[in-house]
Amino acid sequence: MKIQIEDLEFEKMIEQHAIETQIISIGAQINKEYEDRLPVVIGVLNGSFMFLADLVKHVTIPCQIAFIKLSSYHGAVNSSRKITEDLELKVDIKNRDVILIEDIVDTGNTLRYIVDKLKTMNPSSIMACSLLYKPQAMEHVIPELKHIGFEIENKFVVGYGLDYKELGRNLKDIYQLVN
Ligand code: 5GP
Repeated sequence: MKIQIEDLEFEKMIEQHAIETQIISIGAQINKEYEDRLPVVIGVLNGSFMFLADLVKHVTIPCQIAFIKLSSYHGAVNSSRKITEDLELKVDIKNRDVILIEDIVDTGNTLRYIVDKLKTMNPSSIMACSLLYKPQAMEHVIPELKHIGFEIENKFVVGYGLDYKELGRNLKDIYQLVN
């Protein structure tokens, strides 16, 4: 199925039920890995809001939830490389186990930036989960990235929290740019 958002055409790539299956599996792994711990789950806004909301429904251990807001795409389909911090983390993560929730890791610049920044706050551990990962675009080695929902081609995607010009975040499925 194809959809139009502004000047671009997208086709369905990952169905909602496939996303849910992966989320259930990641949730189960978190429950096992963090048993008897009280992690702080940190969502990277805006893109991760839907993934985080669905994932934490499957996290049955106690956890706290917080957000940071960063942007790097600024409405284009290629990463701008310049990271803007729009909302600072409000919880103290010193000596805490942090689970970072990302929508997508593309070049890895944003995740690298966040992990380095969080490390300066002296958490006990940092583990990152990303719903999507573009291995061909990745420019960093980030050992903290442990859970990935889907490895995808190096093409621009929208839906399930991800936008094009701030549109498409509400789509239940994930769509890939047609070119
Ligand atoms: P990176 O810093 O890894 O290059 O990019 C990370 C951020 O860029 C993501 O959190 C996301 O906001 C945005 N981004 C990267 N690839 C895509 C994409 O294919 N579609 C959308 N909508 N955003 C993307």
